[in-house]
Amino acid sequence: VNSPADWQTELSSAFRDTHSLAQFLGQEIDNDVRYPLLITKKYAQLIKDNGVDGVLARQFLPTQSENSEKGFIDPIGDKKFSKTSQLIHRYHNRALLIPTTTCPILCRYCFRKNELNSDGPFAQDQEATLNYLQTHPEIEEIIFTGGDPFILTDNKISQWLHALASIDHIKFIRFHSRVPVILPSRMTLELKNMLTSFVDRFQIIIVIHSNHVSEWSPEAIQSLRNFQSENLIFLSQSVLLKGINDNQKTLKELFHFFVQNKIRPYYLHHPDQVKGAEHFELSLEEGRRIWAGMHDLIPGWMLPQYTIDIPHGHGKTQAFNPESIEFSGSFLDRKGRKVPVDK
Ligand code: SF4
Repeated sequence: VNSPADWQTELSSAFRDTHSLAQFLGQEIDNDVRYPLLITKKYAQLIKDNGVDGVLARQFLPTQSENSEKGFIDPIGDKKFSKTSQLIHRYHNRALLIPTTTCPILCRYCFRKNELNSDGPFAQDQEATLNYLQTHPEIEEIIFTGGDPFILTDNKISQWLHALASIDHIKFIRFHSRVPVILPSRMTLELKNMLTSFVDRFQIIIVIHSNHVSEWSPEAIQSLRNFQSENLIFLSQSVLLKGINDNQKTLKELFHFFVQNKIRPYYLHHPDQVKGAEHFELSLEEGRRIWAGMHDLIPGWMLPQYTIDIPHGHGKTQAFNPESIEFSGSFLDRKGRKVPVDK
């Protein structure tokens, strides 16, 4: 069992400047990139072991390409639906709660990369946030996102859950987190016990963000397996990224890995058009072509939903076959070709 202090020490001693990280890795890193850097020493070792141009280096080491001016600062329209500094109410019956603006690592492709930083602050708008939730009985689910909610201390998470427990209409609590992959020492028995102490009040769902099997160290797999409990639901979310997982073989391995480790595949996001991450984008046509063949490789129950956030706050839709919502007269076949059919 990891003591709570381990993960906090690991995080506070993380690399936050390119010079010391470059020295550790023994390789050059672009040092005039406009976005902050955060990589723990342990994860830096994994990046090193995976190779200078491996899928970990490409996801987490800063590069000049991030200084491009193309793309949007707020690609999915968070601002349009902000109700307090930490609450976004975009969908009728669920709301996003942002308890912090930092993460266990700063992913270079992140859709919120223009809002995050390497050391907080932890947002402090709890009263206004709770007031809003109390007066909106249609909200049934709170989605903790960020930033990464598992960067909060157990006390802080528990305070939030106690406060939310007093709002009768909230039934589901979802945590979106990269912590199980990146900072496994944080998946403590104390955190598990605290979360499971709320399961008579809420259904708790943990959505783990992972894009490639190589991201998982043996320690991360073991910590996750120790953390899992039949009282908690584990789902996956991944981003389809150019040069990282934009091929069927890698995706098949990833979805197999999730299922073998009791994580139910949930989302594969088409990348958002965020400023500073254009080099990770692939066209929707390419994404759909990759997706079209996945059914031939793995059964439907093992596939997540391939979704796209329509830019500027129009919300998520299925990226594979939007024709099923407003039928355009064609379906895509398994090779990604348009097949016209009668309406
Ligand atoms: S963990 Fe998620 S929110 Fe944090 S930097 Fe990575 S993609 Fe962004």
